[in-house]
Amino acid sequence: DDILKKIIEGVYKIPISLVTLSNSISVLELFNGPTMAFKDFGAAFMARCMQYFISIEDDKELTILVATSGDTGAAVANAFHKIKGINVVILYPSKKVSFIQEKQISTLNENITAIEYDGSFDDCQSAVKKALLDKDLCKKFNFTTSNSINIGRWLPQIVYYFIGYKLLNKRSNNLAFSVPSGNYGNLFAGMISKRMGLPIDKFISSNNSNNVVDVYMKTKKYIPKASIETISNAMDVGDPSNFIRIQELYKTYSNLKDDMYTCSYSDEETVSAILELYSDYNYLSDPHGAVGFLGVKEFVKSNDNFNCIFLGTAHPSKFIDIVENSINKKIELPSQIKEYLNKTKKSVFVKSYEEFKTFLLD
Ligand SMILES: *Cc1c(COP(=O)(O)O)cnc(C)c1O
Repeated sequence: DDILKKIIEGVYKIPISLVTLSNSISVLELFNGPTMAFKDFGAAFMARCMQYFISIEDDKELTILVATSGDTGAAVANAFHKIKGINVVILYPSKKVSFIQEKQISTLNENITAIEYDGSFDDCQSAVKKALLDKDLCKKFNFTTSNSINIGRWLPQIVYYFIGYKLLNKRSNNLAFSVPSGNYGNLFAGMISKRMGLPIDKFISSNNSNNVVDVYMKTKKYIPKASIETISNAMDVGDPSNFIRIQELYKTYSNLKDDMYTCSYSDEETVSAILELYSDYNYLSDPHGAVGFLGVKEFVKSNDNFNCIFLGTAHPSKFIDIVENSINKKIELPSQIKEYLNKTKKSVFVKSYEEFKTFLLD
């Protein structure tokens, strides 16, 4: 218990704040960790747990393979950097992550290896899955993964829904959380918080153009697709790996429909939302948060008496080009981001699974 408490205290040092935008709309800011996205919570928890378990096993070395659309890789690289006995190999899609995300993934070195993969996030994900089952590689490495298929990633995320409720401090209206969603780990954590007793009346599942779940809830047809590149790249997922958990939790389509409202938005709508948040609410949002805000705006049109909280999943400066272009103004970079800018990128460019495998074996 003492060890677990210490681990959790270390994770929850990251400050969380609730910013009120209007009578009914607030944003829960989860991006004040070292890599400035909410994924720092899950990555820190996993790294601290694994560090403990590896320390009690002699001579064991672990290799973590992780595919990323940008933020997972950054958070995992930061959380596992310099942990003894653990090596991390991060696959990211070449030219499809932001400038700052790439710096965060490829400049730490030491036990962190960055692989720049010539393909999409889905290609990175399938290369990881293939490697985990590759007999030649498994003979040589003791593999694990840190994508959100691993429950260690989203368990600690249950907690901040409670913190959001506490900070809101309004109990008269119904409560809705809008979650900008990709792989659905974050929204699933929210659903678990409700099962634990938190009085959440509705989840708003807010998507970009990668809208398989929205389409499913509107047509009852689940059709996985190749991911589409958008300006909210951490949500560019064509077949979300945690949606099966949500279905298992709710059992039936109609149970799920009662609890979850779904919507999806184009890049143009996202850019307008960033501008609207800035000009009408004096609030600077990243593209992912802006998608969450759009979900709230749509939801409140047909639902009175709700307090809505959308999750601020990344700091606006992580997506500085998009944010500056949306509001037509320069923004100041925080120190956590500045420190990466002058570091030199070091990554291994691979064109295929075979090249990736050869690199690992060598
Ligand atoms: C990962 C991520 C998401 C999506 O979270 P899921 O748990 O995969 O649904 C949303 N916004 C940002 C900024 C992210 O990094």
